[in-house]
Amino acid sequence: MKGFVVITDSTVAMLYAKEVGNFNAPVIVVETGEKSKSLATAETIFSQMVQMGCDRHTTVIGFGGGMICDLAGFVASTFCRGVSLILVPTTLLAMVDAAIGGKTAVNLPCGKNLVGSFYFPERILLHVPFLNTLPDEQWENGIVEILKIGLVADGDLFYRFSEWSMQTLIERAIEAKRRIIAQDPYESGKRALLNFGHTIGHALETLSGYTLAHGRAVATGIVLEARLSHVLGHLSAAELCLIEARFPFSCFSFSVGEIIEQLARDKKSKQGVPHFVLLKGIGEPYVAGGCFCHPVATSLLMQEIFRAESVKLEK
Ligand code: NAD
Repeated sequence: MKGFVVITDSTVAMLYAKEVGNFNAPVIVVETGEKSKSLATAETIFSQMVQMGCDRHTTVIGFGGGMICDLAGFVASTFCRGVSLILVPTTLLAMVDAAIGGKTAVNLPCGKNLVGSFYFPERILLHVPFLNTLPDEQWENGIVEILKIGLVADGDLFYRFSEWSMQTLIERAIEAKRRIIAQDPYESGKRALLNFGHTIGHALETLSGYTLAHGRAVATGIVLEARLSHVLGHLSAAELCLIEARFPFSCFSFSVGEIIEQLARDKKSKQGVPHFVLLKGIGEPYVAGGCFCHPVATSLLMQEIFRAESVKLEK
């Protein structure tokens, strides 16, 4: 069978029934939410695809936010050992991040994104008006990612954020991310730069049991990792102030010990020592000896960043 199959979630299927229908293809709708990014859902989709007569000539269209991009990408990369993939991202985060860069994933009960593949879509169809229906929190997740890409790869994106249209911001963020990925598609070096703010961000997100929104957690991670960059003598005080002013900082109630323990489990950690992407300036990462991630001693982390043993939750 040649042809297409659309994979989407129930919210997007309802909001964009007409646009989904425009593909004139069978539609598989999964429940909205991160829970659907699972092996069980993937298995259900595989069965539905077989029943629909899909084969290795079928093209999978992932139509939705980052959850759908990851799930549809995973399905496309494994069904019949890999079929073509088109992504139609509908959240800001999916447009600038999840759909770009060829990472697919499903979650396991014991951790996020533990099963997946590198699999690049043939096409990404970008339609900014999808964002008109996006809830506020979803906007924040995407905006934090755009600013983060600016910090590590395109200073103008950070400085001119308020002047540029959303279309321009999205295009610039995608370009900057693609420049990095082109040099390191399978994440063996430079691509780590995209983790700026995410080392501490992920630790906070995990410790909160995912009640802290991703964008909020990463924004806090960005501020703290920028502070680390300054304390280590790479980033100027003036640039640190600009970064602190741009990102909302969520206070957290976890102890230093809990955070340090979580950081030791980060994928960039070596022998339990957390490694961080650091900044030399806005738009300029600190790179030394060809390395993009740098060890930071636990004592320094404790002393300079988490000055107080515990900070009260702000909200
Ligand atoms: P999501 O796909 O769950 O979407 C968030 C919510 O917005 C959902 O309720 C969804 O139904 C709804 N939604 C989607 N489009 C909408 C629209 N246009 N209007 C109104 N509502 C809409 O989550 P997300 O925030 O887009 O992405 C998070 C996921 O992306 C996580 O699973 C994360 O791991 C993954 N991700 C992957 C990569 C990657 O490189 N592969 C990068 C970043 C994030």
